[in-house]
Amino acid sequence: MRTRAAVMHAPGKLEVEELEVEELLPGEVVVRMVAVGVCGTDLHSYKGEWDRPTPIVLGHEGAGVIEAVGGDAGGLRQGDRVVLSWAPACGECGPCRRGRPAACGPLSSAIGKGTLLGGRTGLTLAGETVYRGTATGALAERVVVASGAAMLLADDVPLEHAALLGCAALTGVGAVLNAARPEAGFTALVLGAGGVGQFVVQGARIAGAAEILVVDPVEARREQALGLGATRSCGPDDIREAMRELDPEGVDYAFDAVGAPATTKLALRWTRGGGTAVVVGLPAGGEQLELDPFEFSNREKTLTGTIYGSEDPAVALPRLIDLVRSGELELASLVGPSFPLDRADDAFQASLAGEPGRVLVTP
Ligand SMILES: [Zn+2]
Ligand SMILES: [Zn+2]
Repeated sequence: MRTRAAVMHAPGKLEVEELEVEELLPGEVVVRMVAVGVCGTDLHSYKGEWDRPTPIVLGHEGAGVIEAVGGDAGGLRQGDRVVLSWAPACGECGPCRRGRPAACGPLSSAIGKGTLLGGRTGLTLAGETVYRGTATGALAERVVVASGAAMLLADDVPLEHAALLGCAALTGVGAVLNAARPEAGFTALVLGAGGVGQFVVQGARIAGAAEILVVDPVEARREQALGLGATRSCGPDDIREAMRELDPEGVDYAFDAVGAPATTKLALRWTRGGGTAVVVGLPAGGEQLELDPFEFSNREKTLTGTIYGSEDPAVALPRLIDLVRSGELELASLVGPSFPLDRADDAFQASLAGEPGRVLVTP
């Protein structure tokens, strides 16, 4: 089989090429991709901030239709509509046994090496191995993944909306509901109103936040967050004043949806004594965080982190779909501009430029 895919030969540029795809193994499926969201993780690789082997096919947040199945594929059938999970974990390591497949040891090693969980990629270009971003490589017309990485989608959620469920929604909503687990009536600060930040805002609203202050330099993103449940917004320079009005002591829960050391420090700074700051976004490679120990020993703050919503995606996705159906979780207005596969590079540039809404590639 062959597929067209957006290939990154070196950071900063995607080119569409036709790749050779290895024969389907038992337990694998071919997904005809319909929509793929551009995630912050993809942008780290694209900007060269993470060391990844090349050539590589990026993309891991996607939805599509099963085109073929290899042997017994966990009950999946041709024609099934699916959302990709980038964490089809090994099931045997410590994190997997604790129900945290996204923190799976072998999975994170595979992601670093640019392969699937088993160590292969199944993709070549003129005989040369082509690697897979985030153990997926979704920016292609056809993607072969383990059946466990293809999660069945309800018929009433459009695939273009469903793509967002595969990473941003699981990550952002899960950061609140599964990692922070706040009690209703809490106050929240959300730093960064990109794709994941908008879902943190929604997660906080769903969890019953009394106040949600969202901070982002882009006004259009702040406006969007206000429409999704944020009660206040400001730019990064005005956070001190906004917090003085909200609660000078700080918020109960602060979420860093950016993940840079500067924003993590800010999140901890504006968490009240005894409150919790949650790191949701991912930093560039090699970054270090400098902290004041008195924040913990004297002010009893908690600093924690979350990956992929701190829950097994197969468990969390059906809950999200229920929230979409009940109208509590908004997807449609979060879909940004979409680009055909041939313009995948333009899609990445649009995402870097801070387009509000998730930028989609529609292979
Ligand atoms: Zn992602
Ligand atoms: Zn594992």
